Amino acid sequence: LLASDGTLGVTIFEEMTTLAVRTGAINLGQGFPDEDGPAEIKAAAQAAIAQGSNQYAPGKGIPELRQAIAAHQQRFYGLAPDPDTEIIVTTGATEAIAASLMALVGPGDEVLTFEPFYDSYGAIIGLSGATHVTAPLLAPDFMPDLAALEDAFSSRTKAVLINNPHNPTGAVFPAEVLQRVVDLARQHGALIITDEVYEHLTFGVRHIPVATLPGAAERTVTISSAGKTFSFTGWKVGWLSGPEHLVSAIRTVKQFLTYSSGTPFQSAIATGLGLPDSFYEDIAITLGKKRDILSGGLRAAGLDVFTPRGTYFVNVDTSPLGISDSVELARRLPALVGVAAIPVPVFCHPEGAERTRSLLRFAFCKKTEVLEEAAARLATLR
Ligand code: PMP
Ligand code: GLN
Repeated sequence: LLASDGTLGVTIFEEMTTLAVRTGAINLGQGFPDEDGPAEIKAAAQAAIAQGSNQYAPGKGIPELRQAIAAHQQRFYGLAPDPDTEIIVTTGATEAIAASLMALVGPGDEVLTFEPFYDSYGAIIGLSGATHVTAPLLAPDFMPDLAALEDAFSSRTKAVLINNPHNPTGAVFPAEVLQRVVDLARQHGALIITDEVYEHLTFGVRHIPVATLPGAAERTVTISSAGKTFSFTGWKVGWLSGPEHLVSAIRTVKQFLTYSSGTPFQSAIATGLGLPDSFYEDIAITLGKKRDILSGGLRAAGLDVFTPRGTYFVNVDTSPLGISDSVELARRLPALVGVAAIPVPVFCHPEGAERTRSLLRFAFCKKTEVLEEAAARLATLR
C-alpha cells in the first residue's frame, strides 16, 4: 500500500488519469467507456429517484435486483442461485472482492492469484493479513503455466482468486484451464473467488463461469458488476453469488464496510439485466470492432500486439521500438505523443514485473474517432 518512496500511494489508474488530464492526452489508461450505456437504464434510475427510491436499500440489495441477478445467471449459464440467501448486491465488484477476502481469509492463509493481477487484489489480500502467492500467465496468449500453478498451491492455500476474462491481459480461459484450477482447489480444500466483471465482453469465444464446472459450485463465490456490461462504471453496482454459508459470512463483513449500496441505481440495473439477448450480443460485437481499430493502430506504430479475447484491454510489447521499461514509457507517453496507457508491471510482484517489463496496456472502450486519433498519434512513435 506504500509507494516505493514510502509515501501513501495512489492507484496507477488515478496517477495516469491525472497525468492524461494535465497533458490533455487521450486517456487509454483507466478502463472506462466514453459513452453512456442504454437510455432505458438511465431513465429507470431517474424514475426510481423521482418515485422516492432514495433511502437505504436492504443490506443484501433490493429484492428486484437480486431476482434479476438470479434470472440472468439462469438465462446465460443455467445456474440457479437463491435470490434470498445466495446473492448479495455490493458497491461495485471492488467491494465484493474486499468483503469476500475479509470474510474468508486471514493471517496464516495463502491466497493464490494469477500474475499479472488486478491491483485491488494485492491491496486487499494485504489488508486481510493473508499471504499473496502468484502463478504466472505467459505471453503471447497469457495462459497459466500449469506446472507453476500446481506448485503455487500449498496446504495453506485458503482461496484462489481468479479473474476471467482477465484484466490486464485480455485472456479468456478455456474450460481445461478452469477445470484444472477447480481440481487443484478441491485437492487442497481451497475456496474459489472468481471475478467475472467482463463476462459479457468476449470476442469470438464463450465465457465459462467457474461455478458451472464440475466440483466448483460448492466452493465458489462468483463476483460481477454492472459497470462493464452496461457502461455505467460510475454507478458502482456489483454483486456476488455462491453457497449460503459463504455468502452469509461475506454479508456480515459487507454490513460494516458500506452497509448497503445506492438504491435507485440498483433498481435501474435490475431493468438492465432484463434486456434481451441482442443487447448482450451487440455490446461484444461493438467492442470487438474497437479492439480491432486500436490493435491495428498499435501494430502500425511498430508495437507487438497481443490480441485479447475479452475485456476492455489490449497489451503490447514495446521492445520493438527499443524501449524496454514500460513504467518509464507510460510516464512519458502522454507528453511524448498525447496518449496515456498503463504499464503492466504495476499489476505484478517484483519477479513478474521483470517478466512484463516491456508490456503496456491500452483501453479500447472509447469512441471510434478517439481510437483513430490515438492510433494516428501513436504512429509518430515509430
Ligand atoms: N475487477 C476487475 C478485473 C476490474 O477490471 C474492475 C474495474 N474495472 C473491477 C473488478 C472493479 O469493478 P467495480 O467498478 O464494479 O468495482
Ligand atoms: N478497472 C479499471 C481498470 O483496470 C479501473 C478501475 C479503477 O480505477 N480502480 O482500468
